[in-house]
Amino acid sequence: MTTDAHTPPAGAPRSDLRFLIIGAGMAGILSAIKLLEAGVDNFAIYEKADRLGGTWRENTYPGIACDVPSHLYSYSFAPNPEWSHRFAPGAEIQAYFEDVARRYGVDARIQYGKEISRCAFDDGRWNIEMTDGSTDVGHFVIAATGVLHHPSYPDLDGLDSFLGTTFHSARWNHETPLAGKRVGVMGTGSTAIQIISALVDQVAALTVFQRTPQWVMPIDNPAYSEQEKTDFRSEPEVMRQLRSEMSQLLTDGFANALVDANSPQLQAIHDACVANLETSVQDPTLREKLRPNYRAACKRLIMSADFYQAVQRPNAMLVSEGITGMEPSGARTSDGALHELDVLIFATGFRVDRFMRPMQVIGRGDTALEEVWSQGPSAYMAISIPEFPNFFMLNGPNGPVGNFSLIDVAELQFSYIMQLVEQVRSGACRELSVSRAAAERFDADRVEAAQTTIWKSGCKSWYLDANGVPTAWPWTFDRFEEAMATPRLPDFDMR
Ligand code: NAP
Repeated sequence: MTTDAHTPPAGAPRSDLRFLIIGAGMAGILSAIKLLEAGVDNFAIYEKADRLGGTWRENTYPGIACDVPSHLYSYSFAPNPEWSHRFAPGAEIQAYFEDVARRYGVDARIQYGKEISRCAFDDGRWNIEMTDGSTDVGHFVIAATGVLHHPSYPDLDGLDSFLGTTFHSARWNHETPLAGKRVGVMGTGSTAIQIISALVDQVAALTVFQRTPQWVMPIDNPAYSEQEKTDFRSEPEVMRQLRSEMSQLLTDGFANALVDANSPQLQAIHDACVANLETSVQDPTLREKLRPNYRAACKRLIMSADFYQAVQRPNAMLVSEGITGMEPSGARTSDGALHELDVLIFATGFRVDRFMRPMQVIGRGDTALEEVWSQGPSAYMAISIPEFPNFFMLNGPNGPVGNFSLIDVAELQFSYIMQLVEQVRSGACRELSVSRAAAERFDADRVEAAQTTIWKSGCKSWYLDANGVPTAWPWTFDRFEEAMATPRLPDFDMR
C-alpha cells in the first residue's frame, strides 16, 4: 500500500531502531556524529580498511591537496582554525577527520577490517554479512561508501614485460624511491596534475602521457599566517564568515553556472584558462599540444598554480601520442618512440559507476541492486532507490559531485535522511523508499536537464554515463539545497 504524508499508517513511535553505517570516510563519520547528536546510540559503523578517512586515507600521492578551499571543505559544525593553506594538503585533511572523529566520540565506535559483502532486506530489517563471516541486523542502512575508490587501470599490451615498477595514484607505492628516476605519469586529470607538479623537481626525468589536454585554471594557495590562525582560534565567527563567503563565491561563480553551458561565469572561466595557457606556455608547439578542443569545465576543471611550469622544466616531456604497448625498458608510443622508464604511475582515474559494489545489495522481494543498476547507477535525489526501503546513500549517484564541497552535500543529504527516518521513528510508517513513479520522474527530469549542462558540451569525462548523459545533479546548487530542506513525502512509498 502506498500512502502519502497525510494518511500515514497507524503505529507507535519507535525507540528500538538500529542503524548500520557502511564506511568511515567523511560521510560515515558525519552520519555517526549526527546520529549521536540526535540521541541515537544504537548504531554500528563498519569500515573495510584499518583506518578512517576514505579518499584521504587511500590517496597519499605527492602533491595531494583538495582544490576546494579548506575552510569550506570542513564540517560546518567543526571549523578548523589550524588549516595551513587555503588549499590544505591531503595529510592535513586526513588528520582533520581523525581529530573530528576523536573529538565527537566516533573513532572508538568504528569497527575496522569489516568489509560488507552482502546487505539484504528481509521482514523489515537489513541483514548484513561481512567478508570475515560476521553479521549484523539493523532497521536502516546508511551507505557512506564513497564515489572515487575503485581504481581504473589502463589495458596495456606487454605490461608484464615491463621491468620497472607500476602503481595507481590511489595505491601509491611509498617503497619505491623516485628521486633520480625516470618516471612516467599516465593521465592529466586532477590527480595527475598534482602529482606532476610535486614530482618534477625530484626525479631525473618526468614523462607525461597525455590522452586529452585539460584546461587549467590558475589558483593561488597562500599559507595562513600565525596571526590569521590566532584570530580564527579566538573568534570562530571569523572562520564561519570566511566559510560562508567561500561558499557563496563557489556557488555563484561555479556550481550554479555549470548547469548552463552558456552562462557568463563559465565564459569568464574559459577566458581565464585560455589566458593562463597563452601566458604560461612559451613554446608554441607545446602550447598547441596542451590546448583542449572543448570548453573549460566540460571535464572537471583543473586548478593549478604550477602545472604549466612543471611541464616546461628541462627534465619534463609531454607525450601526446598514445602508448601502444609496454616493453621491458619502457613505453612504446604510436609514433614508434620508446620512452625509457623506471616507474610508470597510473593516474588514470576511477571506475565511477561502482559506488558500493561489489557489495551485494538485495532489496524488498529479492530485488538485486545489480539488476536495478544494470543500465547504470541512479538514485532519486542521490539518496533512495525504489524497493530498497530504509536504505539511504550519501553521495550516491546523481548528486552534485564535482560541483561543490562534498562535505556540504553530505550534510544536506544527512539532514534530509533524518527527516525520512523520523517518519519511522514517529510511527508514521515502518519502512520507506522512493516510489517507482517518483524515481522515474526524477530520472527523466534529470536526463532532460543534463542536456544543457557544460558536461554535455562536447568532451569525454567521468561525468558521462555509457549513453553520454551527465550523471551529476544537473540543476543549480541552490536547487539542491531547496530539495534537501524537506523531503517530498508523497514521492515515497511508505508502508
Ligand atoms: P580522471 O579525472 O578520471 O583522469 C584520469 C586521467 O587518466 C585522464 O587524463 C584520462 O584521459 C587518463 N586516462 C584514463 N585511462 C586512460 C587510458 N587507458 N589511456 C590513456 N589515458 C588514460 O581521474 P583523477 O585525475 O584521478 O580524478 C578523478 C576525480 O577525483 C576528479 O575529477 C576529482 O573529482 C577528484 N579529485 C579531486 C581532487 C581535488 O583536489 N579536489 C584531486 C584529485 C582528484 P582522458 O581525459 O582522455 O580520459
